[in-house]
Amino acid sequence: MPEYQSLYRKYRSQTFADLVGQDAASRALQGAIVSGRVAHAYLFSGSRGTGKTSAARLLAKALNCTGRARDSAEPCNTCQSCVEMTAGSALDLIEIDAASNRGIDEIRDLREKVNLAPALGPYKVYIIDEAHMLTEPAFNALLKTLEEPPAHIVFVLCTTDAQKIPLTVIGRCQQFVFRRHSEEQIASRLSYIAKIENVRVDADAMQLIARTAQGSMRDAVGLLDQLVPLASGPISLESARSLLGIADPRLLDSLLDDVLGGRAAEALTELNRIYAAGAELRQVVRGLMEGCRDRLVAALSKRDQATARRLSNVLDALLHLDGEVRRHAEPRFLVEATLARLAVEAEQPAAATAVEQISPAPPPPSHEVGLPQTSGEEQVATSAPRGEKPVPAPVAGWSEVLEKLNRTVRAVYLDAQPEVDGSLLVLWFRYGFHHKKAQEQSSQLMPLVRAWLGDEAKIDYRLRENDATKPTQRPASPEDDPFVREIVRRFDGRVTRVKEVSE
Ligand SMILES: [Zn+2]
Repeated sequence: MPEYQSLYRKYRSQTFADLVGQDAASRALQGAIVSGRVAHAYLFSGSRGTGKTSAARLLAKALNCTGRARDSAEPCNTCQSCVEMTAGSALDLIEIDAASNRGIDEIRDLREKVNLAPALGPYKVYIIDEAHMLTEPAFNALLKTLEEPPAHIVFVLCTTDAQKIPLTVIGRCQQFVFRRHSEEQIASRLSYIAKIENVRVDADAMQLIARTAQGSMRDAVGLLDQLVPLASGPISLESARSLLGIADPRLLDSLLDDVLGGRAAEALTELNRIYAAGAELRQVVRGLMEGCRDRLVAALSKRDQATARRLSNVLDALLHLDGEVRRHAEPRFLVEATLARLAVEAEQPAAATAVEQISPAPPPPSHEVGLPQTSGEEQVATSAPRGEKPVPAPVAGWSEVLEKLNRTVRAVYLDAQPEVDGSLLVLWFRYGFHHKKAQEQSSQLMPLVRAWLGDEAKIDYRLRENDATKPTQRPASPEDDPFVREIVRRFDGRVTRVKEVSE
């Protein structure tokens, strides 16, 4: 029985004509190959699955092909060099994974090895994948080689994050940016593959796969690869959805309605129904993000500022959630908790807005603040009229800071609402528990904030009014956390286990 070959490997571009959607890079590379003016180093940057490594291999293949027509860059794919390159056994094509330890060692040995002549063809091509992962010593070693490259050497650095490549290295490279594929490009490539593989895929199922892949041809072909062996007949939209774990958008729409309408219990029931039907949580979160974004665009076009602001806050929370879901040990709980929180917040928009407006410094007169009732709301509203100060929009830069923290530390700051005033970062916390923890972890946060706002940066940790007025009642355990209490009340449940989430 022949070894199974993934569709992605099977249909990896073997000619430039096959390299979909990267016309600028493709044309420039072909021009260089035909004219013999090949650079010593290239930097291919762009998001994952857009064909960077495929293009690098194609370049290597074309350079060493002996059957290539003089006026064409296309490799013949039949000469010894081409066959070996395709099979992955060519000695003149060296692929280094910069993310692995071995990769670092390989870079270290580079200076001696690059001087050895190629085995078969005129060129020796080094492809350095995930090049941004190289360590500083490895970059230095690479740079020394790039400064005096032997004539037969071509480097191709591939990266999804060109900003992490030192400028000294970038300066020695010719750079090409690989763009995300459009849904049409992906769908058309998938149709081509399906036709050859003799699989029937409905057009709307094809569109669904293309959309799910988010611009990555590799992901799209990978999804098709998952579907083909599972489907018994032609692949319909319904079967693609259930096989890929993608929820029906109508169900997601109604889930989003519940969240935005403040119906936490209904939202969780709906979520469980979607989950039980086989949808994957990440796809659910992505679907909610899409729905939220569509509504945000609609609100903006209607100049409905209040709705837009609220939707952008929800979208921001979903974005965080999307990042957390793939790392979290119990993603389901995380999704439930986040959606319930968003719904609870939506239910008390007036109170939430009012609390935002309170100045924290002098505690307001001693009115009782529990879960706000109507009378409390009025009091708050008189002391700070609604609409005077808008709810702050998400602060750009803060999410990047969060991304850089390790997961345990980040969890403490997820609840914080940032405000930036010059070099002062004010972090608002709703819960004393988080407020206290956040200050304990300040040494982790500070360097990142300085890198963001400058060396003068200061952080002010503030607690929202409803906790600040009752310092003695600060939650001592997670069960006392108002959010947990609310969940317990709504589901008529109790806390059975508290799990500390760590790396
Ligand atoms: Zn050839």
